[in-house]
Amino acid sequence: MLIAVWLVASCKEDPKPQIEPTEELAVIQPEEVYEFGFNLNDFIVKRDTVRSGDTFGVIMERNKLGYPKIYQIAEQAKSDFDIRSLQIGKPYTLLCSKDTLQEPKCFIYQPNKEEYVVINFQDSIHTYKSRKPITYVEKELSGVINNSISQTLEEKGISPRLAYKLADEIYAWTIDFRRLQKGDRFKVIYTDKYIDDSIYGGINEIKAAYFEHKSEPFYAFEFKTDTVKGIVDYFNEDAKNLRRAFLKAPVKFSRISSRYNLRRRIALYGNRIRPHKGTDFAAPVGTPIMATANGTVVKSSYTRGNGNYVKVKHNSVYSTQYLHMSKRKVKVGDFVKQGDVIGLVGMTGNTSGPHVCYRFWKNGSQVDPFKQKLPEAKPISDSLKTRFLDAIAPVKLQLDNISFAEETLLENPLEENLISQVQ
Ligand SMILES: [Zn+2]
Repeated sequence: MLIAVWLVASCKEDPKPQIEPTEELAVIQPEEVYEFGFNLNDFIVKRDTVRSGDTFGVIMERNKLGYPKIYQIAEQAKSDFDIRSLQIGKPYTLLCSKDTLQEPKCFIYQPNKEEYVVINFQDSIHTYKSRKPITYVEKELSGVINNSISQTLEEKGISPRLAYKLADEIYAWTIDFRRLQKGDRFKVIYTDKYIDDSIYGGINEIKAAYFEHKSEPFYAFEFKTDTVKGIVDYFNEDAKNLRRAFLKAPVKFSRISSRYNLRRRIALYGNRIRPHKGTDFAAPVGTPIMATANGTVVKSSYTRGNGNYVKVKHNSVYSTQYLHMSKRKVKVGDFVKQGDVIGLVGMTGNTSGPHVCYRFWKNGSQVDPFKQKLPEAKPISDSLKTRFLDAIAPVKLQLDNISFAEETLLENPLEENLISQVQ
């Protein structure tokens, strides 16, 4: 091998080579293809997925590796990777020698799209975990709502995750996505994730958004308030936190079936006024019920009217109560965080269908949470405010410059971006 290299070198130096280059040296090497940190051209590459009944040993045996060698590899790899954790349906790659034997030299297992485990036994045995390179591509999007935001996104071929992120992470406290109106419109700057430059890995993050609800604008800018802990929050253009101390609803994707109404009349009770001091969210039995704010569980019990219910005290002013659960998940004294699951939707107690009756207490009396000016979550610190305003200025300009799809002749706003990126 060394001689061959030397010959190549000497061939280049000498205009009249003494020795004819061998056929092998004359072959033009195909372009190098790297994956998992290997030049795939150095091997015969065999790709497959773990099948039912497969174990590391079975796969190796099928690929003609002797049992003593398999045992030796398994023993040595043990401390770095549990070879029994191979899951059916997950892909693996075998790098085999480029000769007639095609003996396996390397086993690569992919537990998910991003990570892979290498057991390299070309010479000595090495086992390590690594990740595929990730790239992020920034995109812009705008849309007008006709029916629902999910439908608008679907028509544009955008992942529904974008809707979840807008509804549950960014605007969960400011806009009630159950009550969007025809003509509400939005613009989003977000990043898509790509693994190995080719595999779509989903929406990574929303950098900024603009939502126009009932003609009122709501800006949202992502900002890292704690670079050490990596805490990210969304703030409006005046550096006000979009999060509130309370979630708008204790269940996701529900429908309000009955609002707080002190003058509700019910035919069943002879049309007499039966005030409803809660807000009913209809959702299927078993849907997780979340604490709408941080607090301490002060009641977790059962009564004939309430069924299974939980009451959480948030501070000296506010408490919330959740009724008709099929199952309670917390006990008195537990501390719960906003969004923690405290029970499951059911129809225990006095109820005609599966829902959670959400009761909101302020200074000891029940009020309509939708009519309250609820306290803002942790505001941005004064020292960060200037930095925030500087950081969002160009982003806001970018957001403002995105036009609504319906206003332009271009059918797909993404195409427009791609064109502008190319230019
Ligand atoms: Zn109710």
